[in-house]
Amino acid sequence: MKLATLRIAKFFLCLLPLFLQNPILAAIADKKTEIVTTVSPITNIVQNVGGKHIKVTGIVPDGTDSHTFEPIPSDVKILQAADMIIVNGLDLELPTLNLAKKVKRPETPILQLGNLTLKEADWQYDFSFPREHGHPNPHLWLNIELVMRYAEIIRDNLIMLDAANKVSYQENTAAYLAKLKKLDQAIFKCVETIPETNRKLVTYHDSFAYFAPRYGMVVIAAVQPSDFSEPGPQEVISIIKQIRETGVPAIFGSEVFPSKVMKQIAREAKAQFIDQLADDELPAAPNNSFIGMMASNMVTMTKALGGNSACMANIDASNIAF
Ligand SMILES: [Zn+2]
Repeated sequence: MKLATLRIAKFFLCLLPLFLQNPILAAIADKKTEIVTTVSPITNIVQNVGGKHIKVTGIVPDGTDSHTFEPIPSDVKILQAADMIIVNGLDLELPTLNLAKKVKRPETPILQLGNLTLKEADWQYDFSFPREHGHPNPHLWLNIELVMRYAEIIRDNLIMLDAANKVSYQENTAAYLAKLKKLDQAIFKCVETIPETNRKLVTYHDSFAYFAPRYGMVVIAAVQPSDFSEPGPQEVISIIKQIRETGVPAIFGSEVFPSKVMKQIAREAKAQFIDQLADDELPAAPNNSFIGMMASNMVTMTKALGGNSACMANIDASNIAF
């Protein structure tokens, strides 16, 4: 009996190499690299670079105010399981970053994409992000040239972490950079169709500070104060005056920050109020991607400012397979 058991065991041992060559079993053995991210645009950019070799968990829920987001207790486990933590940085996710530093495994790197992309001299401070508070405007990802740097930084760090899948990360990134380049060029085209006197932005949330200088637009005003409350009457009056003087035809709200004041400002200044620009929230399927979010922003913005939104007609908002 014992001998028979031994023989059976030997027989299965001989089969072991065959089992390991089986792609399904090999896939189980090949555990995906676990990446933890924060806001949905960053999560989506990381997914496009990492493709099928990484598992990404974004801990800031879609449509949440990322600037005041506090991680919840269950995020500790997620951060502890991470092989790499990727945040936007420039102080956007300070509570999450501080928690991550405390609870992560010692060998887990933290990438602050914004800080690796822009040197401090190029950080922007303005009405909603005043220099005296020491926290710069963090919205680099609305500028596609900077997103292309983000993608390259993510690629290089994924390769350092998981060299076995180097070629796949390189291929994904090359394909994604090509899509981003098309998007970047299309945004330039959109702005070209907007009459020059209308290339001005008044937004509620101050998220276009790095977008505007790249694409030849000017941010006239951002309405939201630095503590993310509503502006006082003096500020409202001054913004209405600026809109009247500049003749801006439309002002823009954000879905994450509904504001009654914007409607009032638009009425008083005789401008259209468009409540649809997004910087944190990805659109629903089939355009559920960062590129889809920017394409939708540009259609909204271009139409409202008197341009031709056909500029976005050929944008492929699909994701790299993951
Ligand atoms: Zn924001």
